[in-house]
Amino acid sequence: MNIILLGAPGAGKGTQAAKIAEKYSLLHISTGDIFRANIKGGTEIGKLAKSYIDAGKLVPDEVTCEIVKGRLTEINDGFMLDGFPRNLFQAQELDKFAKIDLCLNLDVDDRLLLDRICGRRMCVCGASYHVSSLGGKTACEKCGKELYQREDDNPQTVGARLETYNKQTSPLISYYGKQNKLATVDCGTMSPDEVFGCVVKVLDKFIK
Ligand code: AMP
Repeated sequence: MNIILLGAPGAGKGTQAAKIAEKYSLLHISTGDIFRANIKGGTEIGKLAKSYIDAGKLVPDEVTCEIVKGRLTEINDGFMLDGFPRNLFQAQELDKFAKIDLCLNLDVDDRLLLDRICGRRMCVCGASYHVSSLGGKTACEKCGKELYQREDDNPQTVGARLETYNKQTSPLISYYGKQNKLATVDCGTMSPDEVFGCVVKVLDKFIK
């Protein structure tokens, strides 16, 4: 099973992706994580990506598509793409080098996204929290490490990221809809576990 996880920034893609990958034994490929690792490692790709990420814009398609293509040629089992494709060009390129079975779209009300992203605190172990649920704690409940805020999770960059999503990424909903490959989970105000319950129902039905 090869899946795309689609959703606006703050929709909970990362959280759901980790749970889905574990339950269905899928290789989780997050382009955002790949770029952040490159930035941390000071690579050429990282240097290039940083300016785009800081501005809330998409990293150029040629670079992004090459990275994903490279990762996918290394595997022959199921995978889940988190954060790719992010525009129609990337989706069309992806169709040339991989077969996609399903695009799972996490739908969250626009008004909730800004608060979710600006209040998000991350841990290196992959856990993420909202400040409002931490009660002043600054360490991860799972591994005890100090939490941090992603550099692009600030009000200025978030506005640009949401605009980029609405203009460039949201057309993918109809792209996969037309191919009968779209399943949407209406996340409303559900907790991550409740959303995952809905995701599992969709995926189990799809696999059968
Ligand atoms: P994410 O962690 O998915 O929110 O991605 C963080 C940032 O990385 C995005 O705001 C983009 O600047 C960049 N990025 C991630 N995935 C892509 C992609 N498929 N195409 C272009 N840029 C991307």
